[in-house]
Amino acid sequence: MSKKWIFFTDATLGKLCKWLRIIGYESLYCPQLSPHRLALPVALDEQGIILTRQKKLVEKSPVQFEANRIIFINDNRWQNQLLQVITVLQLPKPAAMFTRCVKCGHILTETDKTKIMIHVPAFIYQSHHRFHRCEQCERIYWPGTHFKKMSDQIAQIFSHLPNVE
Ligand SMILES: [Zn+2]
Repeated sequence: MSKKWIFFTDATLGKLCKWLRIIGYESLYCPQLSPHRLALPVALDEQGIILTRQKKLVEKSPVQFEANRIIFINDNRWQNQLLQVITVLQLPKPAAMFTRCVKCGHILTETDKTKIMIHVPAFIYQSHHRFHRCEQCERIYWPGTHFKKMSDQIAQIFSHLPNVE
């Protein structure tokens, strides 16, 4: 990842928040995001980028943001929302997919299979060898068919971009 960013997404952008995590970015879901709450702390954090569907948040922000530090998302579909973020910020092709917890955004760590035995269904335990766990919310991940499906969806989104490496 060429640059370290932290995304702050508003109440209507839960899916976008999740997909940013899937491709490896730190992304915080902030349902309380409003012009006067959070805009300021985010502005002070040089890595923070606000993603919002609220025009008033962009127009009435008490803070004068630099270009692209606050992005008004103009589509309802997460695929187009992600495409907009990728295009505006020129995000590179994801090199760190599935390294973060989709639920809470924390970095995942590989875990010894025997340690999670009682937490996953028996057939999953027997048919998979590598497991990752979120140390924060304790959710367990393994590469299943949904990984392939999500990878394909991401590849499709990036295929819309002619010049991104
Ligand atoms: Zn988690």
